[in-house]
Amino acid sequence: MGRENSMGITAKKAEDFPEWYSQAVIKSGLVDYGPVHGTTAFAPQSYALWENIQDIFNAMIKKSGHKNAYFPLLIPEGFLSKEAEHFKGFVPEIYWVTHNGSSELKERLAIRPTSETMIYYFMARWIRSWRDLPMLLNQWCNILRAEIKDTKPFVRTSEFLWQEGHTAHATDKEAEEEVMRILEYYRTIVEDYIAVPVLMGRKSELEKFAGAKYTLTIEAMMPDGKAIQMATSHHLGQNFSKPFGIKFLGQDSKEYNVWTTSWGISTRTLGALVMVHGDDKGLVIPPRIADVHVVIIPIFTKDNREEVLEFCEEIKRGIGDSCSTVLDSDENTSPGYKFNAWELKGVPLRLEAGQRDMEKHQVTLVRRDNGQKSAVDIGSIREKVAQTLDDIQKSLYSKAREGLAKSTHEADTYAKFRELAPKGGFIKAQWCGKDECELKIKEDTTATSRLIPFNEKKKGACIVCGSPTETIVYFARAY
Ligand SMILES: [Zn+2]
Repeated sequence: MGRENSMGITAKKAEDFPEWYSQAVIKSGLVDYGPVHGTTAFAPQSYALWENIQDIFNAMIKKSGHKNAYFPLLIPEGFLSKEAEHFKGFVPEIYWVTHNGSSELKERLAIRPTSETMIYYFMARWIRSWRDLPMLLNQWCNILRAEIKDTKPFVRTSEFLWQEGHTAHATDKEAEEEVMRILEYYRTIVEDYIAVPVLMGRKSELEKFAGAKYTLTIEAMMPDGKAIQMATSHHLGQNFSKPFGIKFLGQDSKEYNVWTTSWGISTRTLGALVMVHGDDKGLVIPPRIADVHVVIIPIFTKDNREEVLEFCEEIKRGIGDSCSTVLDSDENTSPGYKFNAWELKGVPLRLEAGQRDMEKHQVTLVRRDNGQKSAVDIGSIREKVAQTLDDIQKSLYSKAREGLAKSTHEADTYAKFRELAPKGGFIKAQWCGKDECELKIKEDTTATSRLIPFNEKKKGACIVCGSPTETIVYFARAY
């Protein structure tokens, strides 16, 4: 077996999805495993994707008046325990710092599993009157939550990167509007840039964020039939502002507690990107999120090398700075090796140029998503590249959209639900709202309630207990 074969992915996506995924993220150079269980390094290639998400999100939130800030990593135990539900929810995952040098600390310090409590400490100091509201803060940082179970790069790791937004408002209504506004930003990033379709809705009481009044979520379906929670937006009511004493003086000179929200999107989204779009050759990066859009592969012999390279430079200049183009002029690897290497990395477009292309003043354009080849006159290369990248973006999304539709099923009886559950995908069913019915479904099938859609209601009965209800829930097994 030659070098060209051994570096590629050996598992098939349709046959052994978990193995395919781990080879895809490792062999493409996105991540590498850390020495401590559940940790990974984000190589430049994946960090560049994360930076693109940061840029897109920063532009959105800054436009609506949010500001970036940074808060301390170590959270005193007493802070976390101030909101009892929150503490209970996070305790099993916390990494504790117990020593300061060689001396034992009087109070344990948590490495932030999320920063509500730390940021509220500051908000209580910074908010004085209605003039300070709304306070719209966001922090980009790392988070530690112990993952003892199966770990998976991007999707399930003890340390990950995210943004966490934290806002304080004068009224309940403003906080409600905020969590919806942010959910829509998340939908835009995931659908319009990462090209992964999502369902939007509200979490059940059992699945909501620990300490929240309610949680909104966007969820995507992976090709193996498991759902991934892509981002969440929480309305925290006054559950935190009361214990943390975040008060403001209203225009009527009376004191009130603020209403707070928190919301986050993490590097998990990159895992979904790989799972949804990747194929047996490797990654397929949607153009709108890609770091490199085009790779030019020169096909030369030792006699025409200079000429072909000059032609490729001309093509690169022709494409201009509308997208990011790499010319792979490495002399030590063959064109075939380069094709495989760049396919593995998922660069959306490949241009091949050799002697014949040069004579015809053309270049061969190859799409990563479907392998389609076409010859393009280099006079129109700029427009053709832009148009093809746009086509790739749209076609990745519509293909994923079809996948979502195909893996969404409906169950009107519990028997039907139990028959569908092992097959994976979303199962749409009616539920009365009681914890016990939701828990029974989880125990019997391992499927959890993923979301209650915003505007879908139907007169019917709970599939478990038969009580009349209008509520529809999407259930699924999830990462
Ligand atoms: Zn029920």
